[in-house]
Amino acid sequence: MTPTIRESTNGQCRFCHLRDAAPTAIWDEIVFATEGFSVIATLGSIVPGWVMIVPTEHSMNLAQTYRSTEFVSLRRAVAPLLGRQFGGSTRLFEHGAVSTGSLTGCGVDHSHLHLVPLASSLEPLLLAEEGLSWTCVRSSKISDVASGREYLFYSDDSSHQDPFGWLAIVQNPVSQFFRRLIVRQFNHRLEFDYRVEPYVANVAATHRLLKSGSRDFASLTLCCEPVALSHASGG
Ligand SMILES: [Zn+2]
Ligand SMILES: [Zn+2]
Repeated sequence: MTPTIRESTNGQCRFCHLRDAAPTAIWDEIVFATEGFSVIATLGSIVPGWVMIVPTEHSMNLAQTYRSTEFVSLRRAVAPLLGRQFGGSTRLFEHGAVSTGSLTGCGVDHSHLHLVPLASSLEPLLLAEEGLSWTCVRSSKISDVASGREYLFYSDDSSHQDPFGWLAIVQNPVSQFFRRLIVRQFNHRLEFDYRVEPYVANVAATHRLLKSGSRDFASLTLCCEPVALSHASGG
């Protein structure tokens, strides 16, 4: 099945328009929003419970955003509930692109954080990757260390105030890098490319749970100031 992906036409950015257009697919529907950030279920969720936190303002990467208290609160509220609801422990990663159309940015030129509940850490696979040099840094230090260069960041510590994680500066961009690692955890029995396999059932499972008013998700509203969106149906 070929997914319908809202294209970046006329220079328009898919994520810049999340809030001002009625969603045409569940992966474009915001399940929770604060002033500065939206949470959506991820197109091509290899596992259920995979969400993205997307800044309202357009930026290429989150290097500066990791220090935002609003972002930190939202991440720390969402990450543990994904693990609880879907099993495993929530891992976070980002491909920090610096230019439009970079292979590193998985086809979306608007910064976003991936939160994915996985039984096992991606760390052993990541550190064994040839051609990448990983440094352990706190998220708040990414902007200093990356210093305007393209990077990859991964952490198992998604609920921490300022998580330690692995940072690599990208010399030779690889498309959908983390997705390739995740399918290796499943011995390649799954398709990595979201353009080939959108994993609609997994996206729907995440969406259903997050929109169902589960007690866990309702508790988000206590720690993160929610905003109502004009086109949100509340369904
Ligand atoms: Zn954008
Ligand atoms: Zn991505």
